[in-house]
Amino acid sequence: MMLIPCPWCGPRPECEFEYGADATVQRPEDPSSVTDDEWTEYLYFRDNPKGWHKELWFHRTGCHHWFVTERHTVTHEIAAAYPPSDPPLPAAVTDEEGPE
Ligand SMILES: [Zn+2]
Repeated sequence: MMLIPCPWCGPRPECEFEYGADATVQRPEDPSSVTDDEWTEYLYFRDNPKGWHKELWFHRTGCHHWFVTERHTVTHEIAAAYPPSDPPLPAAVTDEEGPE
């Protein structure tokens, strides 16, 4: 079982968490200025990297905070976990509810 280091609660089993989203996706600052193809790309298309990846996780059965992890998608090693406010994140994923 993978242990995920919640920045507030410390290492906990992965069953306490819910994956939220790719933390590298940037919401267009002015959605009305992008093309339909660019908006579709933002909404639906994600990379599937083999290696290090920044992800948003939600501590569902713990503190109910969203945070960012830097996780290796092959080994599941987690190099860092920090609150979303530490590095700036897209506006779409910084509220309490997180991504849909
Ligand atoms: Zn927590």
